[in-house]
Amino acid sequence: MKKWECTICGYIHEGDQPPDECPLCGADASQFVEVKEEAAAAAAPQAEVEPLSSVAAAQGAKPAPVPLQGIQALIDKHHLHPITVHMPNGIIPMAVFFIVMLVLFGSPTLGKAALYSYTFVLLSMPIVLFTGYTMWKTRYRGALTSVFKIKIAASLVATVLLATLVLWGFGQPSLWQSNASGRGVFLFFSLIVLAAVGIAGHLGGKLVFSGRKH
Ligand SMILES: [Zn+2]
Repeated sequence: MKKWECTICGYIHEGDQPPDECPLCGADASQFVEVKEEAAAAAAPQAEVEPLSSVAAAQGAKPAPVPLQGIQALIDKHHLHPITVHMPNGIIPMAVFFIVMLVLFGSPTLGKAALYSYTFVLLSMPIVLFTGYTMWKTRYRGALTSVFKIKIAASLVATVLLATLVLWGFGQPSLWQSNASGRGVFLFFSLIVLAAVGIAGHLGGKLVFSGRKH
């Protein structure tokens, strides 16, 4: 039985042929390389990010912008994307719960609680998107496989809808009154945000915990 490694995410497939599609990241068969048992141990360190600044220095080239590369390496090494994602992602279900309670019981305080929660999540989105983009570029070489397409689309949908909800909530304070008709729509958009971050998070968790590139 041969072993094949996905060069994008590190998934290992056993079989005579590589799979048509990587079950973790969606890369096609051409992205798989056969793993020779004796070479397997040596292959892992090659996945590390090249220290580009030292390579450039050795070639006598102008030093690369070190601060940005330092930041990218720090983001990758310290798993800053999962860390920065978990705080806002933990708040979204709570905010949606407030909206459900608002629709059921009509207390304006619940609407305001949800609105301030969404504001915090929206303010954290630039950091989440930046750390996610950096991890994709460094660890997964910016490969645009199906899984990364879905993650990028879900993140953008969530960001745009969150911005819409925050602007709407602050722009129409009467929305929280018991006779306001827009609250159902507000809840519907909130549920889409919840689904989008759930999908992005589920795929991210699969990549991090099932792939070999920890
Ligand atoms: Zn893969």
